[in-house]
Amino acid sequence: DLWEAKGHVRFDDVEFGYAADRVILPDFSLDIPAGQTIALVGTTGAGKSTLAKLVSRFYDPTAGAVTLDGVDLRDLHPKDLRRAIVMVTQEAYLFSGTVADNIALGKPDATLEEIRAAARAVGADTFIDSLPDGYDTDVNKRGGRVSAGQRQLISFARAFLADPAVLILDEATASLDIPSERLIQDALQTLLADRTAIIIAHRLSTVAIADRVLVMEHGRIIEDDAPAAL
Ligand code: ATP
Ligand code: MG
Repeated sequence: DLWEAKGHVRFDDVEFGYAADRVILPDFSLDIPAGQTIALVGTTGAGKSTLAKLVSRFYDPTAGAVTLDGVDLRDLHPKDLRRAIVMVTQEAYLFSGTVADNIALGKPDATLEEIRAAARAVGADTFIDSLPDGYDTDVNKRGGRVSAGQRQLISFARAFLADPAVLILDEATASLDIPSERLIQDALQTLLADRTAIIIAHRLSTVAIADRVLVMEHGRIIEDDAPAAL
């Protein structure tokens, strides 16, 4: 049976370090209700990506627990975990293959109609239709080359199709032209609806659409507030 996660994420007294002699998160607790959008900001090295990696179980805490709907991530079936929690990082936007393959990555049995619907939902369909072979365009071939903003849109379509309860997004730092910036912002809002989202935010416009902004410093949260209050 498929387990359907609601998306309630909790850090309970989590301790973590990459090496035993250097703790990155000394004692971290955080409660993210299902459906909430969190923007995570803070100086470089604060521990934002580390936090994201603990939620997606790249690493496990050395003490305490990260839970999803009250279940320790370590007790979840890997299949359920992969389905419930999806991380979109800026390094891994595209793989070699067609645009369609790239969108269907998290749902290999998706039909072309579902792939198109996901692309439409995040506003990626216009540029895909303008590619030499549309959805069959090889992203690594000449003519199939896509811009940073377009790569991000494809990865949004992929996440939309996968439809996880929890989305983790490490926002790209690359600057975009104004039209793609706007496109990405609209796409993001569609993508965030009806799921829990943790976004390592680099854009002010992203911080503005979050329900809650966490400012991190040295592995701790030093501010936790609505965007308007900051
Ligand atoms: P940035 O804004 O630069 O992305 P960040 O807030 O995401 O920073 P992290 O990547 O979580 O910060 O890093 C937190 C600390 O952990 C830093 O001191 C970093 O050097 C260290 N660190 C990160 N990844 C590793 C790793 N794989 N091995 C060892 N130390 C690491
Ligand atoms: Mg980081």
